[in-house]
Amino acid sequence: MTSPPRPASRHHKRPKGEGQWALGYREPLNKNEENKKNDDGLNVRQRIIDVYSKRGFDSIDPADLRGRFRWFGLYTQRKPGIDGGKTAILEPEELDDRYFMLRVRIDGGQLDLRQLRTIGEIANTYARGTADVTDRQNIQLHWVEVESVPAIWEALEAVGLSTTEACGDTPRVMLGCPLAGIDAEEIIDASPQIAETVERYIGDPAFSNLPRKFKTAMSGCPAHCTVHEINDIAFVGVEDENGERGFDLWVGGGLSTNPMFAKRLGVFVRPDQVSEVWAGVTGIFRDYGYRRLRHRARIKFLVNDWGVERFREVLEKEYLGHTLPDGPAPQPARGGRRDHVGVFPQQDGNRYVGFAPRVGRLDGDKLLAIADLAERYGSGRVRTTVEQKMVILDVPPDRVEALVAELEAADLQVRPSTFRRQTMACTGIEYCKLAIVETKALASDLIDELERRLPGFTDPLTINVNGCPNSCARIQVADIGLKGQLVTDATGAQVEGFQIHLGGSMGDSPGFGRKVRGLKATAAELPDYVERVLKNFQGQKNEGETFAE
Ligand code: SF4
Repeated sequence: MTSPPRPASRHHKRPKGEGQWALGYREPLNKNEENKKNDDGLNVRQRIIDVYSKRGFDSIDPADLRGRFRWFGLYTQRKPGIDGGKTAILEPEELDDRYFMLRVRIDGGQLDLRQLRTIGEIANTYARGTADVTDRQNIQLHWVEVESVPAIWEALEAVGLSTTEACGDTPRVMLGCPLAGIDAEEIIDASPQIAETVERYIGDPAFSNLPRKFKTAMSGCPAHCTVHEINDIAFVGVEDENGERGFDLWVGGGLSTNPMFAKRLGVFVRPDQVSEVWAGVTGIFRDYGYRRLRHRARIKFLVNDWGVERFREVLEKEYLGHTLPDGPAPQPARGGRRDHVGVFPQQDGNRYVGFAPRVGRLDGDKLLAIADLAERYGSGRVRTTVEQKMVILDVPPDRVEALVAELEAADLQVRPSTFRRQTMACTGIEYCKLAIVETKALASDLIDELERRLPGFTDPLTINVNGCPNSCARIQVADIGLKGQLVTDATGAQVEGFQIHLGGSMGDSPGFGRKVRGLKATAAELPDYVERVLKNFQGQKNEGETFAE
C-alpha cells in the first residue's frame, strides 16, 4: 500500500474545478466519480460471487452493472440488432444485452500450456466458443452469463490468471515484449519488473480508484513492439554510458479523441526501482489527475499542462523522496516491422514462430489447437502480441517448417501478406455498445479483397479499423486509419462508413495521421478506395520509400 495523497504543495496553483484530489477537490464532480466514491470497484467481486451469480442478471445493481463490473473485466455486450445510428441516442440500458464481454488480462502476453488450455476450455464452455486476442495482449470472451463468472474465475485463478482490473479506472494489463528473455538482440528483459509490479499493485485499493484507465508498457524490445509512445506510462530498455542496463521513463501517451505522444522524463530507472517509480507516477495520476471531466481525465492532459520538468520534480520530491539520474534516450527501433510475425532465432538457438490470425479473431478450439502445437513443437510457451497476433516459442530449427504447415492449415499464417499481417480491427458493433459500425468482418473481407487485387504488394502498411471515434485499434498511428461513423452514400442515405486518416506513424519521426476534410468512404466503397490509394503510392514512391514517408 502506498501512502494516501499528500496535501497540495504551495507551488501548485489551484486550477479551477479540475477535480484534483491533491488540491482538495474530494467531492465527486460527475457520476463516475460518485460511483467510485460510494464503493470501491474491487468490492463488486464478492457481490458477484455471493449475490448476482446466484440470483441472475436482473438482480444486478445498475451502479455495479455499468460501473464496478469493469473492475473485473466485465462489460455488458451490445444488444444484437441495434444499428449504429442508435448508439448515441439510446439510453445505456437500452443497449445492454444480458451477456458480458469478459477480458482476461495477460500481463506481458505470457501464457503457458495450462493457461492457454484453460482459456480455450472456458471459451467453449461459457462463451459460445468466442475468443479474440486484442492489441493489448488480452484475450476477450463474449456471451458470458453472470451465473458463470465465479466458475470462470476459479478456473483462471487456478492457473495464475485473472480478470482483476482488466477494465475500469485502474491500472490495466501491463504490456511486455512477447520475446522478453528470448530475442537475441534484446536490450533488457522486463518480465521481472512486470511480474513484480502486477504482484504488488494490481488489486491494491491504493490504485483502484484512478481518474481514468491507466495503460502501462515495460519492455527492452529492440523493435519497440510495445508502442511506448502511446501508453500512459512506459519503461523502455536502455543502456547508459557505463554499460548499465535499465529503463527510460515515458509518460502521458494516449490516443482516443485527443491523441498525444508520451514524453520522456529524461531519467534512468534501474530495474530494481521500476515498481517504486511506477507507483510514484500512478500516485501522481491518482492524486493530481483531472477528475471533473471524463474526457480530460487521462494522465496525458496533466503531463501536457505541467510539462516534463514539473512532472519529474513532483515525482522525485513528493513521491519518491529521492532524485533519479539523467539517462539516455532509447536507441532507434530495429529496422523492419514492429510485430514478431515470422520465424526468428532465439538466444538459445531455437526459433520463435509468430503467426497472424485474422484481425485477432480466434475461438476456443483454435486456442486448444495452438496449445497442442506449442506442446508438440515447442516447450509449451505461447505469447500474445500487441498487434492481435500470437507467437509459439522454443521450436527446434528442424521442426519449424512442419509447425508452419500445421499453423497455416488452421489459417494461422506465419508468412502472411502485408494486408493479413498488418490489419487490425477493434471489436465493433458486433458486441461494443459504443460502436457505430461493424469492424471485424469488414476488415477480414478487406484483407481478402486487397490480397486478390494487389497480390504483389509487399511494403509495410498498417490498416487499423475502429468502430467509433475512440481509438481501441489505434487509428491515428496507422498508415491508413479508419474511424467508423455514419456517412452519406450516393443515394443520400446514411450508411456505415469511415473517416479516413492517412500517414500516421510511431518510431523515430512519429506523427498522427492526417484527417483530410471530406475524406470518407462508405463500407462498400472501402476496397476500391484503399486500392486506389495504394496504386497511387506504388506509382509515385521513390526507391525504398515507405507509405508513412
Ligand atoms: Fe468499441 Fe469504439 Fe473501442 Fe471499437 S473503438 S471497441 S467501437 S469503443
